[in-house]
Amino acid sequence: MMDVAAYAAPSASAPLEKSTITRRDVGEHDVLIEIEFAGICHSDIHTVRDEWGAQQYPLTPGHEIVGRVLEVGAGVDRHHVGDRVGVGCMVNSCQSCAACDEGLEQYCLEGNIGTYGVVDKDGTITQGGYSTHVVVDERFVVRVPEALDPAAATPLLCAGITLYSPLRHWGVTEGSKVAIIGMGGLGHVGVKLAVAMGADVTVLSHSDKKRGDAATFGAQHYVNTTDEDAMKAVAGAFDLIINTVSVNLPMADYLALLRYDGTLVELGAPTNPLEVPAFALIPARKSLAGSCIGGIAETQEMLDFCAEHGITAEIEQIEASQINEAYERVVDSDVRYRFVIDAKTL
Ligand code: NAP
Ligand code: ZN
Repeated sequence: MMDVAAYAAPSASAPLEKSTITRRDVGEHDVLIEIEFAGICHSDIHTVRDEWGAQQYPLTPGHEIVGRVLEVGAGVDRHHVGDRVGVGCMVNSCQSCAACDEGLEQYCLEGNIGTYGVVDKDGTITQGGYSTHVVVDERFVVRVPEALDPAAATPLLCAGITLYSPLRHWGVTEGSKVAIIGMGGLGHVGVKLAVAMGADVTVLSHSDKKRGDAATFGAQHYVNTTDEDAMKAVAGAFDLIINTVSVNLPMADYLALLRYDGTLVELGAPTNPLEVPAFALIPARKSLAGSCIGGIAETQEMLDFCAEHGITAEIEQIEASQINEAYERVVDSDVRYRFVIDAKTL
């Protein structure tokens, strides 16, 4: 066992503070990673603030992790000491159900083991990436191509795969008409990925502030969703809409933007239930779907795709002491576009 420096939330209402957590010994199939960077995902904030249901405290969040391999167990063959690697939202699953067999560990029939805040196989509660080291089963560790800047690649471990997976699943290709609601941490990476897949991309953002950035990321169109005329002008326009917004939106207004047979994929996870009128779906055979991160093999595929296309996140690198301030800024949509913690400052 190893005690390591971390930042943890002592309760749902208290700020995160400096703390020490214990990592397990390196088992036969484990990899010990010295963490270089950890991203701040809006899910960290939902979880820490107990917006999704009972958590156990103290809790160390963080499921966008990049670092170097420091040690490997005797049975590890996928990773070597010194490799740059990443860990995303899962650190294990049953590895034997139908979903795991298909490489869909995120949909493991026994429930995947999240990187923080859930019961691990050894009965302890998992603790996340706002720490200096982590021990993870080799099958849940991915290779981060050296071509990618490690800090800017960190958000790909959650934001990247969460957008890549539905873009692939719903068959986005050259000329697909794709809209992304919310250009935050997830959304801005989604824009870059969809553009690289050849889609015709529209950003649906709740102000004009990000118009210039959207064009820089390659989006061909931008709609300020508070402008009713601009919203009317894109009625029935999209094959696929991906919603990354962290608060409840009027779903019918957005479903109206799908063409017949189109799909709106919900990625954002607000606290309250979604309200969907049946007639927002029925008349044009529209679908409303959800999607959760992506499997491990697909996460590797996404990182390789990003290396090939030169895609990373836009980040603001911070020190550990700035985590609480960063949380407030994420909630206020005041981040361009992901905070990444320098683990050396923990
Ligand atoms: P984020 O950086 O805070 O981005 C959310 C974006 O939503 C903001 O940038 C803003 O975009 C828009 N928004 C925020 N408040 C709004 C409001 N009051 N009205 C309208 N739009 C608003 O968050 P994130 O890290 O990208 O995460 C987004 C959501 O996805 C969270 O709920 C998170 O828990 C969830 N998530 C889901 C998965 C999954 O697997 N499904 C994985 C990771 C995260 P504009 O300024 O452009 O409007
Ligand atoms: Zn996340």
